[in-house]
Amino acid sequence: MKPGLVDTHCHLDPQYFPEGADAVIARGAEAGVVGFVVIGVGADLKPARAAAALASRYPERVAAAVGVHPHDASTLDAVHEELQRIAEDPAVVAVGEIGLDYHYDHSPRSVQRAVFSRLIGLARAVRKPIVVHTREAAEDTLSILEAEGARDVGGIIHCFSEDRAFASRALDLGFSLSFSGIVTFKSARSVHEVAAWAPADRILVETDSPYLAPVPLRGKPCEPAYVVHTARRVAELRGLSMEELAALTTSNAEARLGRGFLARQ
Ligand SMILES: [Zn+2]
Ligand SMILES: [Zn+2]
Repeated sequence: MKPGLVDTHCHLDPQYFPEGADAVIARGAEAGVVGFVVIGVGADLKPARAAAALASRYPERVAAAVGVHPHDASTLDAVHEELQRIAEDPAVVAVGEIGLDYHYDHSPRSVQRAVFSRLIGLARAVRKPIVVHTREAAEDTLSILEAEGARDVGGIIHCFSEDRAFASRALDLGFSLSFSGIVTFKSARSVHEVAAWAPADRILVETDSPYLAPVPLRGKPCEPAYVVHTARRVAELRGLSMEELAALTTSNAEARLGRGFLARQ
């Protein structure tokens, strides 16, 4: 039996998959992926428009999230109005990914913080949850989520790679934790601990394609079909069968994003 998983975070832009998103979705479906949350972010709004269009084309399989990645934070002024319009599209289920990245620092940190706050405001205005990217910025991420009332919309901490203390505060804000291929890495002990301990109704799985291919596919470009390996590791850490883990994370994704995927329709 195929697992019935939702990949809650993938980038399917043509620069990553020149063969086109349809082929990637078909391979995912073949592996047992019933839902794909496609993230539309980039230097302009082209990826956001493309993600919304793809989700409209596959209403039973694909949902879109649109936002401005912290790498591109400096672009928000130019795109804010249209981004809000795209975010209102019913095919768009979340605003993201948004957040802070102090590892690459592609945009100045003060700009990243201001833009993150404004985008939480945008999500509150359109009443959709947020997808949060945080890297080497734990304290600032949590204090902005707290200060901007992110609790009102909730959302997902994507590619969870923080510790239990961070997870506790994010859970208190009503957020879900999405585990990527990182949970399959031997060295990621604090992520293993959180994946085993987090409340059952708050865990999700994702690939973050085209990055972070899980073990045993390290070094390959990642794609949604590979979420099966990540899910298997989370199941093992929680002492669940693959079927139980898939049913749990898929219903969590549906509840969090406010829509059903193929499995329920
Ligand atoms: Zn990210
Ligand atoms: Zn991403």
